[in-house]
Amino acid sequence: MPRFRQILDTMTAYSPGKAVAAPDGRSYKLSSNESPYDPLPSVVEAIAEGARQINRYPDPGSVRLTEAIAERFGVPVGHIALGAGSVTVAQQLFESVGEPGAEVVYAWRSFEAYPLLADLAGVKSVTVPLAGEDHDLDGMAEAINDRTRLVFVCTPNNPTGTAIHRGALEAFLDRVPEHVLVVLDEAYHEYVRDEDVPDGLTLYRDRTNVAVLRTFSKAYGLAGLRVGYLIAQEPVATTVRKTIVPFAVNHLAQVAAIASLRAEDELLERVERVVKERTRVREALIAQGWTVPPTEANFVWLRIGERTLDFAAACATEGVAVRPFAPEGVRVSIGSPEANDAFLACAAAFPH
Ligand SMILES: *Cc1c(COP(=O)(O)O)cnc(C)c1O
Repeated sequence: MPRFRQILDTMTAYSPGKAVAAPDGRSYKLSSNESPYDPLPSVVEAIAEGARQINRYPDPGSVRLTEAIAERFGVPVGHIALGAGSVTVAQQLFESVGEPGAEVVYAWRSFEAYPLLADLAGVKSVTVPLAGEDHDLDGMAEAINDRTRLVFVCTPNNPTGTAIHRGALEAFLDRVPEHVLVVLDEAYHEYVRDEDVPDGLTLYRDRTNVAVLRTFSKAYGLAGLRVGYLIAQEPVATTVRKTIVPFAVNHLAQVAAIASLRAEDELLERVERVVKERTRVREALIAQGWTVPPTEANFVWLRIGERTLDFAAACATEGVAVRPFAPEGVRVSIGSPEANDAFLACAAAFPH
């Protein structure tokens, strides 16, 4: 037998959101926080045009996309590092610190990729339980020590949907020693409507140890193409650029992301519709008697506990795929009005 690293025997593999179908064929995928909209014609056109060059390697530096992001957000190109989805940028961060003894601090429950990436990079996970549905920032600050290299702060948090307010986040950042990089994972930033929730880009400029992670997968609807990015000051961004696997961001992803930034107004209108549906779904669930934490993302969270898998199974028989995190709860993406209605009917029928 070839010998592999021991951690691979105990590591839990990433379990992706699945699709399900009802006996009559109805199928609503509310398990992966994807955009419910078809790609924009202008984006499909850019991809079709880009397909003519796929005999060539992509631009390894993603120069045009980097420039487009820099222009859009008013940041220097040197502050940007791209990856094949923000998950791979996170992986690059883990690999940048993965020396024996290195630790990462993050809340739990949070994004299920964090423990996987930590294990893969040989970084020890130090998890701090959520306080209710929110980050326990005091607990996280106390969990930091000399071995800590990274802290992940997922805001809005996947899967609970809660986001951290400016005062609390700034107070936390002020407590973190400078040798520790704080990664603000803002995969759902475009869905935030609470004005007290800060834009991470306003926090990294005067802090050398803060990085912001963003993605084209959710609000921009490019989950299938894999492109995300980090914005941080030069030393951090340069380090992440060094760790990229050559040509990781493919040509179609690059041209589609550029086209999406051009079509941003249209895409953000769609985000606004999802936000309105989010309000409708949450209010309907509360009217049904469920407890639903306020959510700033494109999903809602139901802390169902031991009956989590039963709930997911009941939804599946109606063709509604949700994301169970047993034994804690279920995360349900906001989809089309029709999909949301199908989910609300399941929730109403489930004993609670
Ligand atoms: C979806 C998600 C991402 C983005 O993943 P991509 O690799 O960019 O598709 C990152 N962080 C969190 C918390 C997410 O939920």
